[in-house]
Amino acid sequence: MLFHSTNDGCRDVTFPEAIVNGIAPDGGLYMPQALPVLPKAFFNNISEMSLKEIAYVVCNALFGTLISSSRLKQLVDDALPFEIPVKKFGEREGVYAVELFHGPTMSFKDVGARFMARLLPILVPQRKEFTILLATSGDSGGAIANAFSADPDARVVILFPRGELSKIHLAMFAGYPRVKAVEVGGTFDDCQALVKQALLDKEFNSQIPLTSGNSINLARQLPSIIYYFHAYAQARAQRPDAHDVVMSIPCGNLGNLSAALMALKMGLPVKRFVGANNANDTFVEYLRTGGVHPRRALITLARAMDVGNPSNLARIIDLYGGDLDRLRRDVEGVSFSDQEIIATIRKTYVETGQLLDPQTATAFRALDNYGDARTTALFLATGHPAKFPTAITGAVGSPAPLPDHPARVLRSGAWAGSTKIPPTLPALQRIIRLVR
Ligand SMILES: *Cc1c(COP(=O)(O)O)cnc(C)c1O
Repeated sequence: MLFHSTNDGCRDVTFPEAIVNGIAPDGGLYMPQALPVLPKAFFNNISEMSLKEIAYVVCNALFGTLISSSRLKQLVDDALPFEIPVKKFGEREGVYAVELFHGPTMSFKDVGARFMARLLPILVPQRKEFTILLATSGDSGGAIANAFSADPDARVVILFPRGELSKIHLAMFAGYPRVKAVEVGGTFDDCQALVKQALLDKEFNSQIPLTSGNSINLARQLPSIIYYFHAYAQARAQRPDAHDVVMSIPCGNLGNLSAALMALKMGLPVKRFVGANNANDTFVEYLRTGGVHPRRALITLARAMDVGNPSNLARIIDLYGGDLDRLRRDVEGVSFSDQEIIATIRKTYVETGQLLDPQTATAFRALDNYGDARTTALFLATGHPAKFPTAITGAVGSPAPLPDHPARVLRSGAWAGSTKIPPTLPALQRIIRLVR
């Protein structure tokens, strides 16, 4: 399988090249030329398959020509040591949460990060030292730092917008060797733009090879396809008589939603996806008008979705060949204000005793019209409420209790270490040279 750039301005590459480059030389994102379609028979007994069995089938379809089946099995075993429970949520019929936050850093990003950390050494064995560069509004930083912590050849440089991360977020990527946290005077989009500039600087890359740890890198984005098949299997297993499955996804950089739509192209029989935005509604606006209008990100309570220029929108447009009507048949979009997010967290807490993180709250609320005897409505629970104390306190009066790991790091004070830079390439490159 070959991969082309969404900007169509450079030659097609193999998967190993795509994941080493992170971004195409013309500034576009890599996309598979064609996605494999899974056989109908797979769906006949999918409801009896475990997460790992499903992950193996999906990975085999995607990477089977590049990796032997025994290595692929090993990779799936290592990357997914935790479960992704799919649980009935609340009183309404047919509404289920897909709990993606049971990984080591309590975020769905653990899945992609752990696959990426294993795919790189298998597919690019000639590579020695390399630096993974990523922009984070919170959860990616910890997931990548954790996933690569055992690889002595990997250095990690994490860029985050000044003043916007909670202490718990900072604690999640503190204390790892070969990891540098960089506080950038700008928004998430500024951080992401800097990462792209650095990846495209040929001269610098010839001295210090860089790759991207964000979902712009297919090594992290493609594995997200797995959990849509798993969630579907669980919907079928738990409600065999419900005919339709709808899935709702909280959207920031659109890594998750673009993976969902790839799963659809691979034959996943989901009836519809719902993409939830916060006030940063570039995607919802695209669905409504067909116009792509990136803008400065607004700061909201659902920080992980504060993206004004979502990179993976280019992948979604590419996947549909720009056919907006076809996209609209598969996805609907809806956006929520901070007030609506707060009200949703409060209401679900009162009604169910469970706390939703602010991102997940948007996905849950977006399902208001779904869930009945005929339709199973699933929402992706992407993060942990303890990492978003401002939103939770605003909604219910006090923050969610801290799990052990971040609580320990916070007590130790190790989170304090980050370097401040202005949003300029020379400033970033100076820092990258220092990470050892
Ligand atoms: C990253 C993140 C999102 C947004 O996911 P994208 O793939 O960037 O659209 C949503 N919720 C949480 C908790 C996240 O960390």
